[in-house]
Amino acid sequence: MKKGKMIILSGPSGSGKTTISHCLLSKFPELKFSVSCTTRSIRNNEIHGKDYYFLSINSFFSKIKKYQFAEWEEVYPKLFYGTLKNEIYKIWKSNQHILFDIDVKGGLNLKKQYPNNSLSIFIMVNSIKVLKERLITRYHKNYENDETNINIRLKKAKKENNYAKLFDFVLLNIDLFQTKKKVIQIVSNFIYGK
Ligand code: 5GP
Repeated sequence: MKKGKMIILSGPSGSGKTTISHCLLSKFPELKFSVSCTTRSIRNNEIHGKDYYFLSINSFFSKIKKYQFAEWEEVYPKLFYGTLKNEIYKIWKSNQHILFDIDVKGGLNLKKQYPNNSLSIFIMVNSIKVLKERLITRYHKNYENDETNINIRLKKAKKENNYAKLFDFVLLNIDLFQTKKKVIQIVSNFIYGK
């Protein structure tokens, strides 16, 4: 099978990854979002098969046993997330490149498996205080059912920042407009080889 390219967006929860990935998907029609599996509950603004494949723990573990994941992580205590190998092949088969929004360990894992055709970008913010404010706003908007509380996400964010240097690009997201502009440039160079 012909391999396409992969763009890996990682960074702490609240850093702006999701907004940036939506921006990239609308800008580059040749990009397709990799839908991950998760065992966390569905939020009221999410759609099964579009945002995630929402699985029971049993079904997630059965996929681990059958080696169906390219990578998987216990991203938060007792909450599992993973990328299906089949999701990757399906997108490449349709002659598109893949966009991942995954956690730092998962992102580095994929980069290791696909060193020649991947681009990894770490999105960070300049302070934990800013992250906290963003997470609180988001929580009030969407997260009624969410098991992962803000403190767990902040704790993880502090650890995740230590891995930033292992990514191809690190972008400090202070001004979202500027960050989007930079990401578009980086991705454009990567896809079109400018
Ligand atoms: P959320 O629960 O906010 O949707 O996602 C929590 C974290 O899990 C985010 O950092 C997100 O990027 C990450 N994530 C989503 N899908 C995957 C995946 O397939 N693998 C890994 N390792 N992390 C993922």
